[in-house]
Amino acid sequence: MNETTHYRRVLLKLSGEALLGELDYGIDPKISSRIAREVADVVASGVQIGIVIGGGNIFRGKGLAASGIDRITGDHMGMLATVMNALALQDALEKAGVTTRVMSAVSVRDVCEDYIRRRAVRHLEKGRAVIFAAGTGNPFFTTDTAASLRAIEVGADVMIKATKVDGIYSADPVTDTEATRYSRISYDEVIERKLQVMDTNAIVLCRDQSMPIRIVNLNRPGELGRVIRGEEVGTLVS
Ligand code: UDP
Repeated sequence: MNETTHYRRVLLKLSGEALLGELDYGIDPKISSRIAREVADVVASGVQIGIVIGGGNIFRGKGLAASGIDRITGDHMGMLATVMNALALQDALEKAGVTTRVMSAVSVRDVCEDYIRRRAVRHLEKGRAVIFAAGTGNPFFTTDTAASLRAIEVGADVMIKATKVDGIYSADPVTDTEATRYSRISYDEVIERKLQVMDTNAIVLCRDQSMPIRIVNLNRPGELGRVIRGEEVGTLVS
């Protein structure tokens, strides 16, 4: 943290969909390198960053279960999809000059480290970006819950959830022209109003451990930097 940055350590949640760009499936290298450049700026400003990456651009357990695959096997496939995304993002980050470690909640030891909290904190302290892969390591959870968990475990000051919209709205802004954006909202309001922003487990975990969540639109270039400088972009859940 210095006079232009607001935080010492942040946790960024990126959905797998964030990597899709114009594609229907997989990873758009243009998108991963743009995100990598934004993360590189964060690291250069002296802020420590951990990233939880989703897998929805490749596999989701629920979707696989709907097509007949056992749900737990499907969730394992979903978790492994996040490992692939993590490796792609690591590659993009290292090309942008950021030393990066991938730590997985399921053991894939030939390609990345196992997640060990103390080791993760040490990487962060050394100024390395850490990508947390494989969610929580357990079926039936989501990478949103993993992001809440890792943010709390590594002692982040804020969890930044990247979405495709500019924050939390009273209704779907795409279909409802009356929808208004909340600049601030409580955890309980998000749950009570069933605002579709993160799953309830993830919100409850943050609420119980007082972890603020900032919902931002990462499709807007420079948004991550604005958050890091403490600008009131998107929606703050606290
Ligand atoms: N997953 C899981 N346990 C976790 C996190 C993820 O089983 O702790 C599986 C689950 O099948 C999920 C998939 O991995 O659908 C991809 O994660 P997610 O749907 O959260 O990705 P995102 O929507 O962020 O791209």
